[in-house]
Order: sequence, then C-alpha cells, then structure tokens
Amino acid sequence: PFDVLVVGGGPAGASAAIYAARKGIRTGLLAERFGGQVADTVGIENFISVPYTEGPKLVAHLEEHVKEYDVDVMKTQKAVAVRKTDSGLTEVELENGAVLAGKSVILATGARWREMNVPGEQEYKAKGVCFCPHCDGPLFKGKRVAVIGGGNSGIEAAIDLAGLVEHVTVLEFSDVLRADAVLVKKAEATANIDIIKMAMTTEVIGDGERVTAIKYQDRNTGESHVIELAGIFVQIGLVPNTEFLKGTVELTERGEIIIDGHGQTNVPGVFAAGDCTNVAYKQIIISMGAGATAALGSFDYLIRN
Ligand code: FAD
Repeated sequence: PFDVLVVGGGPAGASAAIYAARKGIRTGLLAERFGGQVADTVGIENFISVPYTEGPKLVAHLEEHVKEYDVDVMKTQKAVAVRKTDSGLTEVELENGAVLAGKSVILATGARWREMNVPGEQEYKAKGVCFCPHCDGPLFKGKRVAVIGGGNSGIEAAIDLAGLVEHVTVLEFSDVLRADAVLVKKAEATANIDIIKMAMTTEVIGDGERVTAIKYQDRNTGESHVIELAGIFVQIGLVPNTEFLKGTVELTERGEIIIDGHGQTNVPGVFAAGDCTNVAYKQIIISMGAGATAALGSFDYLIRN
C-alpha cells in the first residue's frame, strides 16, 4: 500500500503530494484531470508572489514540481468509492475496477461551480461570464456587471463588486433573497446596486468576442428584458465533488467533507483538503495550504500508528 494516497490533482492534491513525498514516504496521486479547476482559469492575479499567471501555466508548474519528487502520479483515474479495511488500511476503488490502498488517504477532489445552463454561457466563459468575484472583479473596473443569485455569495459578491465597478444588477430567480438580512440591507443601501427578483436568466449575449448583455424573463409578467453590461458573475452555488463519499466520511448538508485543524476527517487515517471540504474560502492559495496541512496531518497519523 501507499503510505499516503492522494485523490485529486488540483492545487490541494499537488501540494499534499509534495509535502508527503518530502517526508520520504511512499506517495501516490490519482486524478481524473490533473490541474483541476485551475486548468479552466485564464488570468490569475492573487497567487501571492506571482503577480500574474494563467491557469494552464500554473498547472504545468504544479506538475513539474510534483515530478521533482518520487510521487506515483496516476492521471485520468476516477475514484468511485472509498472504504476502510479490517486491517486499518483505506481502499480507493477506481472507475476501471482497480483498487488502490493507502495507510492514509487525502481526499482533494475539489468542487465545481453550478452553472446557469443558458445559451451563451459556455461560449462566453472567461470572456465576461465569471464565477469568482475575488479573482475577476478587478477586470470590470468602471464597467457594468450582473450577479446571478441572491444568496449569501451573490449578495456578498454584489457588495464587493459595487466598490470596483460602475454598476451591479443582482438577478434573483425567486421572490426573496436568501442572503443574511445584514447583507441584504447593505446591498439595498448601496447606490450602484439594483436588485431584481423573480428574474429568470435566459441568455448570455455577446459580440463573438465578449459579453455585451444579459437577457432575463420577468417571472411575474413573462416579459423579456435585456441589460447591457460587460460581466456576469454566476453565484448560484459551489458543488463539492464528494458524491462518491456519501456514507464513508462525514459531510455537511452541502456535501462538504468536515475536517479538523489537521485536515483529519471523522475516519481515522482519512484526511481532506481544499474546495471539497468545509474550509471557509475556496481559493488556490488556500487549497495549497490545506493540502500541506493534510499531508503533515497524515504524516503525524502514520508515525503514531
Ligand atoms: P480542484 O482544483 O477542483 O481539483 C480537484 C481535483 O480532483 C482535480 O484533479 C479533479 O480532476 C480531481 N477529482 C475530482 N473528483 C475526482 C474523483 N472522483 N476521482 C479522482 N479525481 C477526482 N482561485 C484563485 O485563488 N484565484 C483565481 O484567479 C481563481 N480563478 C478561478 C477561475 C475559475 C473559472 C474557477 C472555476 C475557479 C477559480 N479559482 C480561483 C478557484 C480555484 O481554482 C480553486 O479554489 C482551486 O482550484 C481548488 O483546488 P482543489 O485542489 O481543492 O480542487
């Protein structure tokens, strides 16, 4: 068996593998797609000490760094189940039927943004359709944007963006905002934020290069409206890639793996890191730190067992 078997090859998994391998222990990493969400990212301006990089470039650097160490990297492998054996090992079953075992396992399977599923969304991803206000907000300085979703993340994004952009329109599907009252109050009191409820987004409109407008239907009247803008921030939820873990490790009601300060789950020897966990914020730099924590937690576990 591996001493440490990492499931996931995004920033959290890569960091965990490097930290584990540096302890001289037998380390494996399997990933459906090496690089994770970073592979889908264009400009990255908040990876501290690197003022600007791009997703594919950072993925290449991650891979290069992992390869500096004796890590058994298994790409395009999908985990479908995790279970504990009687001897205390943790087994990871792959889609192709193979079973790998680790004395400890680090789950770093990340998350995916929930999408609107409307025409134009895919075409204009990273050309105006964004998912991360912390990452892409500054790109829309002085421009008009929309935030889709009136939950906590949507209203927080609107308040955050209002300080950077010319104007923010929040489009909420239902007749109420689900965000905390204090956030709603703040958003309502902000001069350059408009909130439209009962609005069903129907289309992202662009000029072939970039987003130019969004179309929505008023669910009360059935009428369609077009708002001209440069950016659309989709804030309708982040879905952790943990479906295959149900019944194995403790998850929050949103499906996030619950970890302690050492990255340990409720199952001995099973650790987790990054966007698949209940960590407060989901960012590259945070995931890398969490991966390091989980690897050191695993090492601690190994020397005690
Ligand atoms: P992920 O990056 O999601 O990686 C998960 C890994 O697990 C992948 O290798 C995946 O293939 C693998 N995996 C999943 N399920 C399985 C399975 N069952 N079996 C095997 N492998 C599996 N953050 C920033 O800090 N700055 C930015 O500018 C920024 N921009 C972003 C732009 C976009 C478009 C997106 C989508 C995200 C952005 N983020 C940004 C967020 C950042 O990418 C994530 O916080 C970070 O990638 C999380 O790292 P992770 O390793 O936890 O998960």
